[in-house]
Amino acid sequence: MTAISGDRPSLLSGLIELVLPRACVGCGDLGTAWCPTCLRVDFDPVLHRPDPCPPGLPPLTTAATYSGSVRRAVLAAKERDRRELDRSLGAMLAAAIGLLITSQQEWPSQFGQLWLVPVPASRSARRERGRDHVSDWTRWTVRFLQAADIPARSVTALRRTTAGLDSVGLAADARAVNLRGAFSVGPVRRPPPDAMVVITDDIVTTGATLVAASTCLSAGLDLGPSQLGAVVVAATQRDRTP
Ligand SMILES: [Zn+2]
Repeated sequence: MTAISGDRPSLLSGLIELVLPRACVGCGDLGTAWCPTCLRVDFDPVLHRPDPCPPGLPPLTTAATYSGSVRRAVLAAKERDRRELDRSLGAMLAAAIGLLITSQQEWPSQFGQLWLVPVPASRSARRERGRDHVSDWTRWTVRFLQAADIPARSVTALRRTTAGLDSVGLAADARAVNLRGAFSVGPVRRPPPDAMVVITDDIVTTGATLVAASTCLSAGLDLGPSQLGAVVVAATQRDRTP
């Protein structure tokens, strides 16, 4: 007798989603994965600094707050393999990049290339989910930017090391310490001096992951301080209750 392997609940929910008509992650209306009304309500690109802001955090923009339909879309694409949401999430990152480029006074108005560097998932997360969702969203982001004549490309410059395996639930300081050395730079050539490098990720909370990633990229690719930025789909709101 052959044993059934794999995660039964996620297999079952995957099968149900194949059979049932597609519904909006926000309002549940049938026919679309994320309806324009819900998307418009929650879409709010802004410059973002976590409070407290960790030293070394590059200029950062977020497309939305991590709530409402954005939170549900991120979780559905990330944890339930709802890949039909990737295009919209990639578009949100593209909008955040548009704001980043136009808001940074010290960035050149003309640049040769825009390198998008996704924060890589850990090996275990990639194995569980069957993909690296931020890389997949970033590929869509590149398409949107190229359609707007922005010379963007996705570059897999960051790799996960075995350090900083799980930061979930840690306080900001502990998370920063845990993430030290969590990334290394893969075998990529140094970007040209007129290139801008933008790190892409799904959500930001304390900013510790983005600091660890940008510190690693700055040193590994010998980047100047005004060559580096970061964008995320959504920023979490910290619970300030004592
Ligand atoms: Zn909706």
